[in-house]
Amino acid sequence: MTAPRIEVDLGKIQHNTRCLVERLKARGIIVTGVTKAACGHPDIANAMLAGGAAGLADARITNVERMRKAGITCHISLIRTPMLSQIERICASSETSYNTEMEVIAELAAEAMRTSSVHNVILMVEVGDMREGIMPEDLADAASQVVKMPGVALKGIGANFTCLSGGAPNPEAMAMLTSLANDIEGSYGPVLETVSGGSSASLPWALGLGTMGRVNNLRLGEAILLGVDPVSGASIGGLHTDAFTLVAEVIETKIKPQKLVLQSVNPARSDLRLVHDDHWKTRSLLAVGFQDTDAAGLKFPLGVTFVGATSDHIVVESRNSPLRVGSELRFQLNYNALMRVMNAPGVVKISSHDRSLRNEIADSQCHTRPALM
Ligand SMILES: *Cc1c(COP(=O)(O)O)cnc(C)c1O
Repeated sequence: MTAPRIEVDLGKIQHNTRCLVERLKARGIIVTGVTKAACGHPDIANAMLAGGAAGLADARITNVERMRKAGITCHISLIRTPMLSQIERICASSETSYNTEMEVIAELAAEAMRTSSVHNVILMVEVGDMREGIMPEDLADAASQVVKMPGVALKGIGANFTCLSGGAPNPEAMAMLTSLANDIEGSYGPVLETVSGGSSASLPWALGLGTMGRVNNLRLGEAILLGVDPVSGASIGGLHTDAFTLVAEVIETKIKPQKLVLQSVNPARSDLRLVHDDHWKTRSLLAVGFQDTDAAGLKFPLGVTFVGATSDHIVVESRNSPLRVGSELRFQLNYNALMRVMNAPGVVKISSHDRSLRNEIADSQCHTRPALM
């Protein structure tokens, strides 16, 4: 089979989605499946929907358009603040966008009016991540302006945690979202359908002991795709962490000496010379590199250690048996490595429902494990 390739087990993605949807349903929260790390891959998007995601979201309009072209008709939100240069495309392919700039919302409204449609707006509030968001004290004013604007409908508010700052969501910030939602409804009228409490990083909070308040939506990418909590890196109980496998081919294996080392014969006189280390190691080259993935985000198989990477190669050392030229190595990936792979034209994407693997974690575990980790 061709390499490098990424093998995607759609059954595992569906299972992970289903588990999270059911656990969160008990807390009054619905799940929006975030497809950006999968580059809007339609099979992966459909697996999220089959697992019970209430809708999809992506940060890039190109990914949204890819899903639309593949025939996906569900509600898709754009979760990155829209670019002014893409307003037409955004109105044409996503029903909702997350916004922070009044100038942008005005353009969305104008475009929606031109096409006799209504574009839904969710206002993002700054809660401490210091990436996107309207300052909480300015939110009411922004909401009142959106409510008055024909062409757009104010559907909710949302917040983002962790992405830039790495800080985990806290109950105080969540409580603030609830009171902001109540204030806006009280002052300006529209029922806020959605109060979106963040991403996978919000799962420990959402599945913890606290109250959810008005928060009724989470936007989940990493937890669904990789089964891990992005803040701690811990795997989430009952979820698959190996839905994705990167496969790379060995193109060279040779026994090579350890690097020449600089040795001091007499430190007092700084008398230095180059000597050979006696160790010889088996080194192999894999035909995959920085152009395809983030090599630091790969989990190497037992007995294989990472030496380095360049644009088109990964160099490894193997302790036990040498890696035969033409053989393949399989890797699990972290979020950054996965994102790069899914965006790399040089990596073939192969998705399948592997039933034997799917049965590894029984679906019943979704119901019997209420705790996150
Ligand atoms: C990427 C992103 C998400 C999803 O984050 P995960 O950690 O993958 O769950 C949610 N919301 C916004 C605004 C994002 O950019």
